[in-house]
Amino acid sequence: MRYFAGIDIGSTAIKIAIVDENKKLSGHKISASGSMFYKYAKQALKEMLNELGVDEESLVYTVATGYGRKLFKEADENISEITANAMGAMAAAEGKCDIRTIINIGGQDSKAISLDGEVHVVNFAMNDRCAAGTGKFLDVVAMNLEIEVDELGEYHFKSKGTPLAINSTCAVFAESEIIGLLGNDNSVEDIVAGVHYSIAKRIIKLVKRVGIKEGIYFDGGPALNGGLVSAIENELGKRIFIPEFPQITTSLGAAILAHESYGYENRA
Ligand code: ADP
Repeated sequence: MRYFAGIDIGSTAIKIAIVDENKKLSGHKISASGSMFYKYAKQALKEMLNELGVDEESLVYTVATGYGRKLFKEADENISEITANAMGAMAAAEGKCDIRTIINIGGQDSKAISLDGEVHVVNFAMNDRCAAGTGKFLDVVAMNLEIEVDELGEYHFKSKGTPLAINSTCAVFAESEIIGLLGNDNSVEDIVAGVHYSIAKRIIKLVKRVGIKEGIYFDGGPALNGGLVSAIENELGKRIFIPEFPQITTSLGAAILAHESYGYENRA
């Protein structure tokens, strides 16, 4: 059996997806990017292959994507995150959601991608200038509230009444605002819900730049946060589809493109 790897070297996490000859996901791995992307990406790929019992010769084509993709010299090819995300989203949602709009929130950026019915990217918009509305903001909020980022969803659903308004549009000022809200005896649950609604509003503004078309799909690490998902759905007034493994879909797209590139080269 031959295998194909997609490596998404993100600002926060390295994601690896391996697919087999049938484009079926054989395994995936998420590890921290840290300061030495290249070294950690190589290490994570090696560990992934060991876990799957796949030898290096059977891994015939590797595609790198994400923020640090150009540093991964071992890759046979590197592609943009937008292309990989679109491809991975279509594969992850196959038969479940006919995707027209992708929302991706990463560690340090957020994106909205508009698709036609055939995996063609029609338009995209990106925020990589401002931390508010990114995973980093959620990490800082969780740290200030002394909870884990994967607990934010749970806290959100325990909030009672109207979520608190977080008015600051800058992550740095929002952090001070949150500390102020804590000092005024607001509950952690209500603050978390307020933060999720403030991110939801920002994301919707970004999505409006490409047009909100139904078949709305959301991925990236923050899509694991059910509270944020619910806030976006409520603000949009529409349901959104979350894949089974939302953090790895860009790497899955890169792995599928690795499969396609390999096939093309062999036919040529
Ligand atoms: P990037 O590709 O830019 O590295 P990711 O898509 O991997 O970003 O998302 C990283 C972010 O996902 C983290 O900053 C964190 O806020 C969020 N995240 C990661 N795991 C979880 C989880 N289990 N629950 C909620 N949020 C999470």
